[in-house]
Amino acid sequence: MFLAETITNPLARVGLLDEAVAFGRREGLLTVIDNTFATPVHFRPLSAGFDLCFHSATKYLGGHSDVVAGCVMGSTGLVERVRRALNHFGGSLDPHTGFLLARGVKTLAVRVQGPQRQRHGTGPLARRPPCGRCRGRLAKPLLGRVRLAYPAVSLGCVETLIIQRAVTAHDGMRPEDRERLGIGPDLVRVSCGIEAAQDLIADFSQALAGL
Ligand SMILES: *Cc1c(COP(=O)(O)O)cnc(C)c1O
Repeated sequence: MFLAETITNPLARVGLLDEAVAFGRREGLLTVIDNTFATPVHFRPLSAGFDLCFHSATKYLGGHSDVVAGCVMGSTGLVERVRRALNHFGGSLDPHTGFLLARGVKTLAVRVQGPQRQRHGTGPLARRPPCGRCRGRLAKPLLGRVRLAYPAVSLGCVETLIIQRAVTAHDGMRPEDRERLGIGPDLVRVSCGIEAAQDLIADFSQALAGL
């Protein structure tokens, strides 16, 4: 199996997805892609040739930080195999979670088209390494100073969420492996919600000014 992410977490890099599909075909591998960050609004992996595509529906599809769910798409044969495994492992949504998810999906397009239309990425400022003196000492105070953004591990919700990457999902990795991947102690991931832009700008400005 060749497993890829459409947009990588947490650095938002985009790989050569066409080449991943071609490589899988050439080598006889099942190509599987985690499309959580892109959402079906921005990318349709099955049309691009991937065999299976999955989403953490906990994130953009639900969109309100109130469900834990997932979904997988692909040919009937492959999805049937996933379903059989799922039955054995016991993952099944309760009706209320199903309702919340169905309701969240209705606003998916309007929620994801706002923030993702803006240009973003690892621009010159983002690439500039922090000064040696303050290295490793910026993320925590920033998280403590923001008032609007919630410090929480999820993403893709109507609320703005902020986390320090190295001490959350990548906690289990060795520090040198994290560094190699560019996940340093000052890396902060912000998942932008749908609050008024001027409120977010004001909040982050006061938080950054106080560092
Ligand atoms: C959160 C996340 C997962 C895990 O999903 P859960 O619904 O929390 O189990 C998988 N892939 C990506 C890209 C994620 O952001």
